[in-house]
Amino acid sequence: MNKIEKTTVCIIGAGPSGTATSIQLSKLKIPHYIIDKSNFPRDKTCGDGLILYAYKAMKILGDDLFASFLKHPKFIHSKKITLHLNNRSKIEFKETDDRDMIISYAKRIDFDQFLVSHLSETYANQHFGSGVKEIRDEAEGVFIKLKNGKEILSKFVVGADGAKSIVASKLANNKIDKKHASTFVSAYFKDVIDLPIGNAAEVRMIYKKMLLFFYVFPLSDGQVNISLGGRADHIKKYGVNLVDEIQNIIKNHKKVKNKFKNATKIGNWRGWSIPFHFGNHKITGERFLLVGDAAGLANAFYKEGIGTGMMSGIIAAKNIERCLNKDGFSEASLKKYDEDLQKEFGRLLKFSHYALRAAKYKGFFLAMAGLLKKKIEQKVHRIIKKRSY
Ligand SMILES: Cc1cc2nc3c(=O)[nH]c(=O)nc-3n(C[C@H](O)[C@H](O)[C@H](O)COP(=O)(O)OP(=O)(O)OC[C@H]3O[C@@H](n4cnc5c(N)ncnc54)[C@H](O)[C@@H]3O)c2cc1C
Repeated sequence: MNKIEKTTVCIIGAGPSGTATSIQLSKLKIPHYIIDKSNFPRDKTCGDGLILYAYKAMKILGDDLFASFLKHPKFIHSKKITLHLNNRSKIEFKETDDRDMIISYAKRIDFDQFLVSHLSETYANQHFGSGVKEIRDEAEGVFIKLKNGKEILSKFVVGADGAKSIVASKLANNKIDKKHASTFVSAYFKDVIDLPIGNAAEVRMIYKKMLLFFYVFPLSDGQVNISLGGRADHIKKYGVNLVDEIQNIIKNHKKVKNKFKNATKIGNWRGWSIPFHFGNHKITGERFLLVGDAAGLANAFYKEGIGTGMMSGIIAAKNIERCLNKDGFSEASLKKYDEDLQKEFGRLLKFSHYALRAAKYKGFFLAMAGLLKKKIEQKVHRIIKKRSY
């Protein structure tokens, strides 16, 4: 029979949200387990773009971590993002001269490995390569069983296991919520030509039966990450086949097709979901809290989920310290985590929901965007100053 291992805190998932939680807990000298079903380096379907909170979170986690991010040979940076509203109008978001970047690009296989390599040898007990198969609340703690048979009893659990979180489904009883999620497909291409100068990000709003977002992000190895997606419930309602749509865009879209005329796809199309249900689902309860995608913290409009996830991990770790030293892990004492997340993200994420809803109405949105262009650029600058490095 297996001997049950005991720990005070167990993080499930070692993506950006789980690793940020772990690094912050280690800074607070709190020993913990961190579990992931994969061994690292491992890939994750993503656009590979890092903005806003990713910088802020890395700076909080440590100046040395941020410095090694900046000089990492596989990560590149840019001062410009262009949002194409249609073939004629666009909004440009440029970083000011005194700041280095507005967006960085890092393949997730490299970025997540970079974060994992910063986990503490002293405080983070790492269990990678076997996923959580069972999890339940018991009298003495949360019982966790891994696929390899290992059994763990933890006083407290952090659900950092992404969009299809087992912690969210078993402990919080949350269901997959297609109304508050996007579905995206993505793939890498080589030999893409005529990319914008200075590694600028290209984002296009494409109106078909529904609104779709198309992203072209350059990478350090000369490849390009392209992705396409939109609201999950609309994709289902209108029967949109994202792979057909994105292939059609790179073949026929008059502003895109030339770039891809000699390009070759590397690997397969991959699809995954981006949840933005924060505020609509339970994210804390007796002996657990959720971070990142498990908590539905992605930005509904521009899909930042890495940075918000990392920032939620930092906020989670500070709350765990408080609960451990003072208040206990009851549902009531964990409410403070909900409040702290609301304070940090509430307004921004609500604004992103409004923007996504408004963007559905093409004529209205284009007219408003044209009219308010200067104001939007100013607002984005304020967001960057407040929520970035
Ligand atoms: C196509 C696409 C493009 C995107 N582009 C961007 C972008 O450019 N920028 C951006 O900021 N965000 C982007 N996102 C969103 C971003 O990928 C997520 O928001 C981010 O990965 C969330 O981080 P996380 O740590 O919460 O979850 P994840 O990165 O999903 O990490 C969860 C971890 O938990 C592990 N896990 C899962 N289940 C178990 C289990 N049962 N037991 C143990 N371990 C488990 C997984 O192996 C994984 O390592 C994109 C998403 C998609 C789908």
